Amino acid sequence: MDTNPHALRSIVIVGGGSAGWMTAAALANAVGPAIAITLVESDAIGTIGVGEATIPPIHSFNARLGISEADFLRATRGSYKLGIEFVGWGTAQSRYFHPFGSYGADFDRVTLHHWWLRERLRGDPTPIDDYAMCWALARENRFGPPVDNPRDVRSTHGYAYHFDAGLYARFLRDYAEARGVRREEGRIAHVGRDGASGLLTQVTLDDGRVIAGDFFVDCSGFAALLIERELHAGFDSWAHWLPCDSAVALPCANTGPITPYTRSTAHAAGWQWRIPLQHRQGNGHVYCSGAIGDDQALAVLRDHLDAPGTADPRVIRFTAGRRRRAWLGNCVAIGLSGGFLEPLESTSLHLIQSGIERLLLLLPDRRHDPLNAQEYNRASAQEYERIRDFIILHYHANTRPEPFWQQCASAPIPDELAYKIRHWTHAARLVSPQDELFKNPSWLAVYLGQGMIPAHHDALADLRAEEVDAGSHLRRLRDMMRAAAQTFPTHDAALARFAPQPAV
Ligand SMILES: Cc1cc2nc3c(=O)[nH]c(=O)nc-3n(C[C@H](O)[C@H](O)[C@H](O)COP(=O)(O)OP(=O)(O)OC[C@H]3O[C@@H](n4cnc5c(N)ncnc54)[C@H](O)[C@@H]3O)c2cc1C
Repeated sequence: MDTNPHALRSIVIVGGGSAGWMTAAALANAVGPAIAITLVESDAIGTIGVGEATIPPIHSFNARLGISEADFLRATRGSYKLGIEFVGWGTAQSRYFHPFGSYGADFDRVTLHHWWLRERLRGDPTPIDDYAMCWALARENRFGPPVDNPRDVRSTHGYAYHFDAGLYARFLRDYAEARGVRREEGRIAHVGRDGASGLLTQVTLDDGRVIAGDFFVDCSGFAALLIERELHAGFDSWAHWLPCDSAVALPCANTGPITPYTRSTAHAAGWQWRIPLQHRQGNGHVYCSGAIGDDQALAVLRDHLDAPGTADPRVIRFTAGRRRRAWLGNCVAIGLSGGFLEPLESTSLHLIQSGIERLLLLLPDRRHDPLNAQEYNRASAQEYERIRDFIILHYHANTRPEPFWQQCASAPIPDELAYKIRHWTHAARLVSPQDELFKNPSWLAVYLGQGMIPAHHDALADLRAEEVDAGSHLRRLRDMMRAAAQTFPTHDAALARFAPQPAV
């Protein structure tokens, strides 16, 4: 029995990209059929059609929806992702791996990277990558889920997925419609509001259909149809920190085994993504339009593809930043309408997921208490800013010669990031004033991978050195990881085993 006479009766989701269908699926799972859910999308406008690499929290999104990994990978022609290989960041020659897991294990009360720094001073040239199980697997093109035993080195890797964005939206649409979500196709021409309260009441399509609701989720992408065009919530631009404002996307065929990681390759005025799927490779060049023209950016991308492009290239414009108030009145913006951070660390789909989780935690009733919006906006701002700083670090910590990169290296950075970097460069301390998505191993990967070697390591490592043969321990650890990697199947074999395609 409904105990709250003010409970929401209907939610309207505007937009049917990844954000719209992720929201629809999660709401249907959590609150349907008590609340009627309608999703409006326009086939003529279409979706952004990129957004194919994820980070490990995607597991909890799928798990909550009861979606099995095999079904998910089959439906989206997905692959496994152990992390990101960064090529040409730092110096033009550098290469490092950002793993979805830890670096070995700390020993004798000292964090592994302090031992590593100490051994490095003593002449050991082994890169920190060699202590990550993710990299041990990735460089061998192997994959398997981590084992359950925390004492086993094969338990120390995490993973996420790559998938086809269009197939993903289709998969979630089937899921949501099977649970009662109603889909309306058509272009929204008008947004209706209550004259007294200013709350949204309905959207009207080109053909006159009216869809009314108690609460609206704006998943209309960069158009930000409700939250900005109608409600003028405001946008904080971070273009002065993250100057890339364009991307050109161009898929190509796979030319060899499917690699279990994303590759990000820096170019003169931006960087290129390479995302391997079962049936193709997603590629794109993210760039700063002030430093390189569209034609030239496309030429750079074509020159660095594994195979000729298989579609018309598509240029996408964006501004890094965040909707000032993502929740305003009875409308919350989720997805590109809520903000955008370039896909360097594959965080946008995660921001959709966390936006949905936050909405469910703060689900309002028809009284629309502003406290819900206040808390949503506070938490959302914090999450965006922490991720933003991590992305800025990649640009800041480069020593490439091109003017674009030199400008990125010398530009001012946010205070909290500067604080973290000071602690790192002084004494290899990984400090984080607040909880955040990217944990210590991620920061370590970028700092060391891009050549930010601290002045000192932990004094405890020197004090304990008499007792601990750190060099032998580290050697054993990396040998163990290399040997352990050989016990996993190749990535292709893992896909065939864990997500077999049905026989045709
Ligand atoms: C270059 C680039 C690369 C990216 N790579 C990644 C990545 O690797 N990993 C990652 O996590 N994220 C990535 N992203 C982000 C990711 O693509 C998006 O977060 C995700 O696709 C969600 O988009 P969306 O659903 O908010 O918007 P869209 O996909 O643009 O969907 C908007 C929807 O609104 C509808 N709509 C708009 N106006 C109207 C109207 N008037 N009437 C009716 N319907 C309307 C459209 O039809 C569409 O259905 C990338 C983004 C870009 C730009």
